[in-house]
Amino acid sequence: MTGLGGRLVTALVAMAVAATLPSAGPGAPRFLGPPRAAAAEVPAEIDPALLRPEIVWKPIPYGSKRKRQMARYSRRHYGVRSWRLVDPPVIVQHYTAGLSWRSAWNHFASNDPWNGERPGTCTHFIIDRDGTIYQLVRLHVRCRHVVGLNHVAIGIEHVGTSDRMVLDDPQQMRSSLALTVWLQARFGIAIGDVIGHAEALEHRLHHELVESWRCLVHADFPHRAMREYRDRLREALTAAGVPAGHGVDWRPSGC
Ligand SMILES: [Zn+2]
Repeated sequence: MTGLGGRLVTALVAMAVAATLPSAGPGAPRFLGPPRAAAAEVPAEIDPALLRPEIVWKPIPYGSKRKRQMARYSRRHYGVRSWRLVDPPVIVQHYTAGLSWRSAWNHFASNDPWNGERPGTCTHFIIDRDGTIYQLVRLHVRCRHVVGLNHVAIGIEHVGTSDRMVLDDPQQMRSSLALTVWLQARFGIAIGDVIGHAEALEHRLHHELVESWRCLVHADFPHRAMREYRDRLREALTAAGVPAGHGVDWRPSGC
């Protein structure tokens, strides 16, 4: 696996080439003076829209009632009543522990309580095993997918029963990296803030007001799997010309 698909790389190369070519035509000057900046320096401002992978919009019901539940959840667990996700600085990777995107979608759509509270769990994206990316929730809306970080994090679920299964699936990984690179470019998210669910307790922004919930976490995408994921992500970011930003910055969780 080398990262992003050829379409994106081709587009970026085309941009860089176009930026360095003089306009042709009878009036074009014959001598162009000193060469312009090297191509690598040209795309300082990449339009994130060019990096957006194909996404299938499959919204779960998330009306005003669920938004009120999310706002109240946020007040209990983070201290501020809001359902809005503003400039999310973190991306959390998960796997569904199942083999069907539809059963995962049904689960998130159900709004069944988890750990005695509503709204039910949810995710912004599900990536199927064939690489199809489904979006369930708008990016300005909070999803409940990771205790301690729901107020700041975008959630990406991968259909599969282990992180190894996801990492070994070229189609799924191609889509996962393309989606993550686009989100990083769009929101300026550093590679060190692309984390696995199992890494959440050690993230510097982890915040949980309910004492009995402070150490709650799941085992999906631990350090070992995420080191491999981030290595591949770094390659994909380089290919796309997107700055990787700072690395991981773990804090002792005390859990
Ligand atoms: Zn998870």
